[in-house]
Amino acid sequence: MSGCVFLVGAGPGDPGLLTLKAAALIETADVIAIDALVSDEIAALIPEGARVVSVGKRASAHTLPQNEINALLVDEARSGKRVVRLKGGDPFVFGRGGEEAQELAAAGVSFQIVPGISSSVAGPAYAGIPVTHRSCATSLTVVTAHECDGSSGIKWPALAKLDGTIVFLMGFANLGLITTNLISHGMSPDKPIAVVSHATRPEQKTVSATLETIEIAVAAAGLEPPALIVVGEVVALRDTLNWFEH
Ligand code: SAH
Repeated sequence: MSGCVFLVGAGPGDPGLLTLKAAALIETADVIAIDALVSDEIAALIPEGARVVSVGKRASAHTLPQNEINALLVDEARSGKRVVRLKGGDPFVFGRGGEEAQELAAAGVSFQIVPGISSSVAGPAYAGIPVTHRSCATSLTVVTAHECDGSSGIKWPALAKLDGTIVFLMGFANLGLITTNLISHGMSPDKPIAVVSHATRPEQKTVSATLETIEIAVAAAGLEPPALIVVGEVVALRDTLNWFEH
């Protein structure tokens, strides 16, 4: 009998933001391949009988290469197992879930996708920042800022012209490059920006400033990854809407 792989989003960290479907799958899985971004509270929900494979340790050499993760999912499913591939946030928002699904499809393994609450939306929300707001942001752009040099393909001239909200994921180490690129392509140095670290978790910390001043403010506050960056007028709403960090 052939098994099935569930590509499951675990949300940004707060276990209350796990979907009912994700929780039920975690409870009944034979094998769980888990990312470093999945919070400890959610990992604690995994029943004792399940085999847990940690496939990513943040910022270390212990990350399993993507081809080995794919092979693991395929092999376990072919041996009849119910496999849960548990990812931070949503599996299709910079989670490489699409690539894993393609591999499963190519191998003829049946799979299901369980969307999760993405940190790109929930992180700002827990910082008191609505990613859209009628009077000041009519668009939301989510950008990976893992690489910010010429090779990254980020369209800085277009981004700098956007009136809406821009959320950068995987950009914490490149914060200075992000602000420099936005300003040099024409965005106002006074544009509000916030960095939200450990979003939705008890240790969440947010720093807001302007494009010009954020790097120093973040260094002074000692923020740590995982962190996301929000740029746009909506950041100012935090002054009245900040609820979680009180
Ligand atoms: N699929 C995930 C994103 C994966 S990319 C999602 O939908 O949320 C990984 C990046 O997401 C991190 O570098 C960081 O920028 C962001 N991120 C994920 N969880 C986070 C959290 N709890 N707090 C702040 N940023 C987070």
